[in-house]
Amino acid sequence: MAGSFERSAWEFDLGRHTITQVAIVAAGLEQLSEPELVCLELAWDALLAGTIPVGAVVVDADGQIIASGRNAVYGQPDPRLLCGSRLAHAEINALMWLPVDRRLSDCRLVTSLEPCQLCVGALRMATVGALTFVGADPVNGTAWVLESARYVGHRPVSVTGPSSGPADRLAAGLALAYTLSRDPASAFTIAARERSPELTGAADALIEAGVFAMAASRMTWDQAALKLLAAV
Ligand SMILES: [Zn+2]
Repeated sequence: MAGSFERSAWEFDLGRHTITQVAIVAAGLEQLSEPELVCLELAWDALLAGTIPVGAVVVDADGQIIASGRNAVYGQPDPRLLCGSRLAHAEINALMWLPVDRRLSDCRLVTSLEPCQLCVGALRMATVGALTFVGADPVNGTAWVLESARYVGHRPVSVTGPSSGPADRLAAGLALAYTLSRDPASAFTIAARERSPELTGAADALIEAGVFAMAASRMTWDQAALKLLAAV
């Protein structure tokens, strides 16, 4: 597709990200790769845009980011993204721009949060050969499908995740904080609290620390990450 990589320019500001990485390495995220750190920053961008904080990138065999996206289910429309749809997940917004003239089994989808069933299917149909996610999703996470579904059997997908410690709690807690706040009595919220007291506790801690006020004040990620890491 002609426009496949024209999105690259907007996808992330490498200069800004370098500053962010320097700031957060000292705060407990040093185990994360550069693409994983970019995903967290994209997740923050999503929250600033008024939607579920999840970010995703696709890296090639050399580890270079060739596509990226963020959740855009809610919030203001953005012409660079699939927006205002229940299907506008971060992973879809990264995968949908990949070229179709070759298979991408040497590429990896990296996400801030364990993909749902929709996005696991999209990864497979996009021919991407590997998945890395930072935070676990105790309710909608479906990475296990990649190890069991018949349609991936003849072309296995390598799965890595979730991360451990503060990275898991921060990435998962961000997304959970959004959904728990949006509907505290939903079936999702009840299931999340039952299945993962640790991650929902991290989400509660982020809310207590003022994550939504930080987003409302347009705090930059390098500033917010330090405060949020201290909370989880
Ligand atoms: Zn999804």
